[in-house]
Amino acid sequence: MEEVHNFASFGLSDELRAAIESLGWTEPTPIQTRAVPPGMEGKDVVGIAQTGTGKTGAFVIPAIERIKAGGGLQFLVLCPTRELAQQVAEDAGELARGSGLRVADIVGGVGYGPQLEALGEGFEIIAATPGRFNDHLERGNVDLSALAVLVLDEADRMLDMGFRPQIEEVLQRSPRSRQTMLYSATMPNGVHALALQVTRDPVWVEATPEGTTAEGIEELVYTVKPEMKVELLVQLLESSEWDQVLVFTRTKAGADALRGRLDSGGIRADTMHSDRRMEHRVRALDRFAKGTIRVLVATDVAQRGLDVEGISHVVNFDVPTDPEDYVHRIGRTGRAGAAGCAVTFVTGAEFGYLKSIEHRLGRRLERVSIPEFDYSGSSQSGEDQGQQRSRSGRSMGRKSAADLSDEELAELLDLSK
Ligand code: AMP
Repeated sequence: MEEVHNFASFGLSDELRAAIESLGWTEPTPIQTRAVPPGMEGKDVVGIAQTGTGKTGAFVIPAIERIKAGGGLQFLVLCPTRELAQQVAEDAGELARGSGLRVADIVGGVGYGPQLEALGEGFEIIAATPGRFNDHLERGNVDLSALAVLVLDEADRMLDMGFRPQIEEVLQRSPRSRQTMLYSATMPNGVHALALQVTRDPVWVEATPEGTTAEGIEELVYTVKPEMKVELLVQLLESSEWDQVLVFTRTKAGADALRGRLDSGGIRADTMHSDRRMEHRVRALDRFAKGTIRVLVATDVAQRGLDVEGISHVVNFDVPTDPEDYVHRIGRTGRAGAAGCAVTFVTGAEFGYLKSIEHRLGRRLERVSIPEFDYSGSSQSGEDQGQQRSRSGRSMGRKSAADLSDEELAELLDLSK
C-alpha cells in the first residue's frame, strides 16, 4: 500500500489541520500513517505501539473527526494509569482545539465534583482510568448510549493491573455499533484474545513494521565517550569488512580534523564539504568510488545525490540533529540490494537527538557498547562484562547496552566526559 507521509493527504478538517500545525507536528509518525486512514473510515484498529511512537495521535486524530460537538459522550479512552489518562486528555484537548469538543479526564485520587460536571454536561471526549470510570458507571453518572469510539490504551498494562472486569463492564454497556481501537506495546496471548474479543474485523498496525529502512541495512548505535570517538572509529576500521566507509561529521572543521587524525594513523581518507572547491570534491568522490581511498569524511553536503556503489558502512560520527538527515545518510549504504551497515556514535549529550531519530523511525535502534570506549562497565553484571571483554579488541563489540535505560546510559556517559 502506498504510504501517506504528510497530514494533508489524510483529508482532515481545517480545524484539525490547524491544531496539528500549532503542535508543530509536520508529518505523521509511522503508526499515524498506518492507523489514521482506517480509523477515519470507521474501521476497528489493533495497534502494537509503545509510548513515544505517536500512538495517541494515531487514535485521537481519526476519533475527533468522527464525533460532533453537542452529541454527548462519544469518545472514551481507557488508560491504565492516572498520568496516562491525563496525558491523553491533554493531547486530545490540543488536537480538538477549534472543534468545540470538550475533553475531561476521569481518574482516581481526586474529587468527584468536576468529573460529575463533565459527565453531566455530556463532554464529548473522556480519558479515564477503569477503576474510577466504573465507579461512575455503577452510580449511574455515565451515559454511554452515544459512544462512537472506544479506545483501550496500553491494553497489556491494563490487563496486568487487573482491570479486565472493569473493561468488560464498559464493553457491555456501550453500543455494539461503536468503533473500537486497542493499543498495546506488547501482544501476549491475553491481550491478543482481548483484541479479538473487542474488535470486529480490525486492521492491525505496528509502529515498527518492516520497511521503515532500506532492506538489509544493519543499524547500530555505539555509546561512546566524546574523546574516544576517533579511537573507536580507528578500531572499527581495522576490520576487513569495513572496506568503503562514508563518515559524517556535524561540522566542516570536524571533518578536516578527523581526516588529519585518520591520515596520521595511516588510514587513507579524504573530505567532502562546502568549503572545498568543486574540483576537490569531485576528485575526492572519484578516489572514493575507485577505492583509492577507503574513507570519505563528509558533512551533509555529500548526503543527497552521492551515489557510490558498494559503500559498506556509513558512520554518523556525530548524531544528526535532524532525523531526516539520518534517514538520508543511511540510505547511502546497502544500495541496490547489497548488505550495508549504518553505525551511529552517541555521547551522553547527543541522546536527545537519538531519541528524535527513533521517534521519526518509530523504533528503537540497537545499542552496542565496548567497555574500553564508553563508561567503565561497572554497573553491568560480571557475565556481561566477560562477554564484552572477550568480544572487544578487534571485534565490533556486539553486546547491547540494553540492560541500562537510556537515562542511565546518558548519565554515565556524561559523568565520564
Ligand atoms: P505518544 O506516543 O502518543 O505518547 O507521543 C509521543 C510524543 O510524540 C508526544 O510528545 C507527542 O506530542 C509527539 N508526537 C506525536 N505525533 C507527532 C508527530 N506527528 N510529529 C511530532 N511529534 C509527535
